[in-house]
Amino acid sequence: MNKLVIITGASSGIGAATAQAFAAAAHPLLLLARRLEPMEALKLPSTLCRAVDVLDAESFQRAIDEAEAQFGPAEYLVNNAGVMMNAPALESNPTQWDSMIDINIKGVLTGIRLALSGMVKRGSGTIVNIGSIAGVKTFSNHAVYCGTKFAVHAISEAIREEVSSKNVRLITIAPGMVETDLVNHTTHDASRDGWWDYAKQIGGALKPTDIAEAIVWSCKLPQSVCVREMVICPTRQEP
Ligand code: NDP
Repeated sequence: MNKLVIITGASSGIGAATAQAFAAAAHPLLLLARRLEPMEALKLPSTLCRAVDVLDAESFQRAIDEAEAQFGPAEYLVNNAGVMMNAPALESNPTQWDSMIDINIKGVLTGIRLALSGMVKRGSGTIVNIGSIAGVKTFSNHAVYCGTKFAVHAISEAIREEVSSKNVRLITIAPGMVETDLVNHTTHDASRDGWWDYAKQIGGALKPTDIAEAIVWSCKLPQSVCVREMVICPTRQEP
């Protein structure tokens, strides 16, 4: 049997597409997000779906224990859950800053903390952290989101160095514009509408499956090969 894959934020977008791609490669799955129904609606085989907020380490751990009891140790964790609420700094909302900082940074750290020690003990494992082009370069009106994604890239690379000698891989996948619900949580109308207008202007954003394929490809390389970082954008995306 193929090894267990844990995916956070699997109820939509890139996470749901990644779940489908790993299922197509015959991996058992633990799917996590706050909304249970969309994960169950995927109807994937050998899959446990649990309503877990990535900030709730106890329920995150319980779900991992349950999945590992059923499918064996988790070989892969895709830390994908994330939120984006953009606005110019002077118009932005500190509650939204908190959500982005908590979910995008502390959520990723929680996933790493819960999965990493088992991987190190077993001398094998892969953690994929979903960064962003906004974690490689800055964008105006995205200050806090960029800050969280720069943090993901830094955390990922620093921990990769720490565990490389234990045969554990940390991979950062940094998408550009992908057509998902992500930007729709932005309450600043001009920022949200501007994203969709630009996507239209360049002939459309990437599809979630474009990123899912890259995630699965990088995981399925031999364990001796580590794709440290991959930036994937629509060809016509200029910034
Ligand atoms: P979606 O909004 O479609 O998906 C986000 C997922 O994260 C949902 O499944 C959501 O589920 C989950 N999520 C959010 N908060 C939590 C939480 N506290 N606990 C558990 N799950 C949570 O957007 P994308 O698929 O686009 O986003 C996936 C990742 O890709 C994010 O990290 C995003 O920053 C990154 N990314 C996206 C880009 C894009 O253009 N779309 C570009 C670059 C990076 P639920 O609400 O059910 O909890």
